Amino acid sequence: MNSYESLLKWNGHTHTNFCRHGSPAPMEAYLEEALKHGFERYTISEHPPLPAGWIPDEPLMRELAMREEELPGYMEAALGVKRRYEGRLDIRVGLELDYLEGNTGYSERLLEQTEGRLDDLLVSVHYLRGRGGMRSIDYTPQDFRDNLLSYYGSMEAVVGAYFDQVEQAVEWAGSLSCGKRLGHVNLIRKFQTALPAMDPGQLDERLRKLVPALKRYGIGLDVNTAGFRVPTCGEAYVPGWLLAVCREEGIPFVFGSDAHKPEDVGSGWEWFARTVRTEANA
Ligand SMILES: [Zn+2]
Ligand SMILES: [Zn+2]
Repeated sequence: MNSYESLLKWNGHTHTNFCRHGSPAPMEAYLEEALKHGFERYTISEHPPLPAGWIPDEPLMRELAMREEELPGYMEAALGVKRRYEGRLDIRVGLELDYLEGNTGYSERLLEQTEGRLDDLLVSVHYLRGRGGMRSIDYTPQDFRDNLLSYYGSMEAVVGAYFDQVEQAVEWAGSLSCGKRLGHVNLIRKFQTALPAMDPGQLDERLRKLVPALKRYGIGLDVNTAGFRVPTCGEAYVPGWLLAVCREEGIPFVFGSDAHKPEDVGSGWEWFARTVRTEANA
């Protein structure tokens, strides 16, 4: 990836009113915000449906993703704005696919329903096996303690299990056709200040180990800045040094604000641009 590509003003990770834990604002409100901030390219990457009973917490389950019957409406809406904004904003229609351990066939069937109309995919790990079944890693610090930390017994074990999932996600993503990036690779740090400390050496080692796999499978990186907006995180979900490594290895990376409301569309861009200049062009 050349320096133009990475500094192309592209927001590669955003949500919409099809998300149950985000703003009900229409897609146009996000897109107008993107134009206001001078974005040239914009990926709409909603959470697709999840298999019934994917996590044991039913009320939370309803908040996580759209229902299966809503997927065609989402595709129509996203394709509609893509057409209407043509010439003003290069819109990529996408999804933020979850890596569903043991159930990747579910996601593959969803992709078939989109009939080749997707431009861009994010593959993210939001779930980890824990107490009573699969658990969200990013719900609340208390939920993390009760259902993951107590299940694995130490942060080291949770972090290890998380990166094992990320490695599997990268391998699975390699089998998907169309552009794809690994979503917020350090999401496990969302509640870092509210949980026992993580070992920085372990994190660095696991992140470094991903690089050859990203390269081999042709997966880019979502340089996700949502962590800056989370008081218990305070950092991007990708460390700056990893951008320098990606640059060296030719792994594409794209800014992603992970906006769940229009006001967050441009959030974190300045950090990204500065980091690209200082780290990745050093
Ligand atoms: Zn979301
Ligand atoms: Zn996500």
